[in-house]
Amino acid sequence: MTRFDEFLKANEAFAASFTRGDLPMPPARKVAVVACMDARLHPEKALGIDIGDAHVIRNAGGRAQDALRSLVISQQLLGTREIVVLHHTDCGMLTFTNEQLAAKIAADLGVNVAGQDFLPFADLEQSVRDDVAFLRNSPLIPKDIPISGAIYDVRTGRVHEVARA
Ligand code: ZN
Repeated sequence: MTRFDEFLKANEAFAASFTRGDLPMPPARKVAVVACMDARLHPEKALGIDIGDAHVIRNAGGRAQDALRSLVISQQLLGTREIVVLHHTDCGMLTFTNEQLAAKIAADLGVNVAGQDFLPFADLEQSVRDDVAFLRNSPLIPKDIPISGAIYDVRTGRVHEVARA
């Protein structure tokens, strides 16, 4: 029994009571959220996002550079007009450097990734400000799109604002 088998079983119950098959492709609330992949963070639940409401783009750290391709598609082809960057306390990205990860990959996989930026960070609030600034300064993001940055606390469930641009 793999996790996939568990998921297929869970999906039978989900699909049996599913009633939202008529939603349009563009997100109803015209917003994209860039969030960390951390398992303790459920952006939809934490922010009150319903099915069909928003694009939630997730990666390690919720880094904007990593999400840019998806954001361009979200805005140019699917009509979103606002971006929210959501990082969180106790993030795994605070626990390593590029050099440390490169050394582990060299040891475990025999692959040289020296010089590659895995986008870790040492300062959580600064990482949010950096990502908001990255998007604000990107020629691929229209200047009239509101961009906000916030931090989710994995212990309290509370989100606090860090930056707006
Ligand atoms: Zn994280």
